[in-house]
Amino acid sequence: MNTGLLFRDDAYQKTATARVLDVREHGIELDSTIFYPMGGGQPGDTGVLVRGNGEHIRIADTRKGEKPGTVDHIPAPDMPRPEVGEVLSLAIDWERRYALMRLHTALHLLSCVVTAPVSGGNIAPDKARLDFDIDMGLLDAERITRETNALIASGVATETIWITDEELEAQPELVKTMSVQPPRGAGRVRLLKIPGIDLQPCGGTHVRNIAEIGGIRVTRIRNEGKRNKRVEIVLS
Ligand SMILES: [Zn+2]
Repeated sequence: MNTGLLFRDDAYQKTATARVLDVREHGIELDSTIFYPMGGGQPGDTGVLVRGNGEHIRIADTRKGEKPGTVDHIPAPDMPRPEVGEVLSLAIDWERRYALMRLHTALHLLSCVVTAPVSGGNIAPDKARLDFDIDMGLLDAERITRETNALIASGVATETIWITDEELEAQPELVKTMSVQPPRGAGRVRLLKIPGIDLQPCGGTHVRNIAEIGGIRVTRIRNEGKRNKRVEIVLS
């Protein structure tokens, strides 16, 4: 059975209840979850599962399960284990997740300000980076900071769009406008649309309006190899 991924429909859901489906050595599987499993450069959520008797199970990380479509909630060391069938209250570390959402959405904007192929990326709660296949001389920290912040200030609402492989085939012009080629063969693709700015396949968690990012600052530009010029940002 697939885990219901509640963050896909509402990235702002901070609490939920769920039933335990399986307890393995490396993780707890639930019937649904608000915990985002590591993927797409975004780290897994941390938080807590609370048992009926009030006992707290601190979750140190969240990963995709071995079985496709499942999620492993990984407890911190020495935490109690729940029973299969037990109903738990879930709460994610919201401040950490919200910082990740703001930085993640900022990377979408960064990929539009720097017009070059993206060759890598990573997001942490305190900083994020994209690697570009570009000439070092074309990267100017001040200009990137200024132009990204101008986009943030435009206050555009983001949209999540699901399209089927067939709809994608029927609209080749859609793919042309995307900065990343969508994966095919899974039946449907989830897209993040920032109207007038960006459209790309993405399964991560984003803010509702890019104004929520507040502002960013480029802290470092570094040569990490022939095809990797790394631009690092923080929230400002
Ligand atoms: Zn995204």
